[in-house]
Order: sequence, then C-alpha cells, then structure tokens
Amino acid sequence: MSQDNLPADESTWTDEFGRLCSKAVEGVYAAPYWCIGTKARGTVAASSADAAKALFKKLTGEEAIHGGRLPYGAMPALNVVHYPSGHRNTDGFFCSSPETCMGHTSCPGRRACSE
Ligand SMILES: [Zn+2]
Repeated sequence: MSQDNLPADESTWTDEFGRLCSKAVEGVYAAPYWCIGTKARGTVAASSADAAKALFKKLTGEEAIHGGRLPYGAMPALNVVHYPSGHRNTDGFFCSSPETCMGHTSCPGRRACSE
C-alpha cells in the first residue's frame, strides 16, 4: 500500500554509527533529501520528499520544517541504503553546502560541490 521505500521494520538494522540501515528496494532509487527539524538535520534517503519527511520524523522524533532534494547527499546521513551491488547511498555524499543546494537536483553553484 505504501508507494515509498520506507523499509519494513524487520528488514532494517542499525550500524555502528547508530544509523538506520535498509536494503534498497529493487527498482526504487532512494534520492537524497536534506531535512531540517528544530534541532536535527541531515540527509534522508527516500523515494520522495514526503517519504523523506516521514522517515526524518521516525528517525529523529522531530517534524521536518524544511526538506528538499539534494543533487548529492551531504553529511550527516540519517539513514543508509544498501544496494544489491554492495554500494551504499552514502558512497556519493559529495555535497558540502546542503542548505544552498537543497531543492535542486544539480548543484546551483558555478562549481559543483562534487568538484
Ligand atoms: Zn551541493
């Protein structure tokens, strides 16, 4: 019934940094969303902004005041998605200015954060 890739509880685990880990759902790309609560902030990997905000609340207990797509993930990662290939979504965390890049699918600066 859920269209997002919020992981089922029995398929998640916590890594050594206390982050929620899940396996990627086949064919569903978990995009990076920068979520800002009252205190917490970080990148949530999810299939949509709404899914990211819902997961942010689940992970931090805070409502997401802002949430927007990032071209690349930025630290800190609040959850980690493991792909069947062995890659993790956090392997591509190149964005160094998430507050600026939030809401964009490519870096708005003259130089991409990834360079
Ligand atoms: Zn950026």
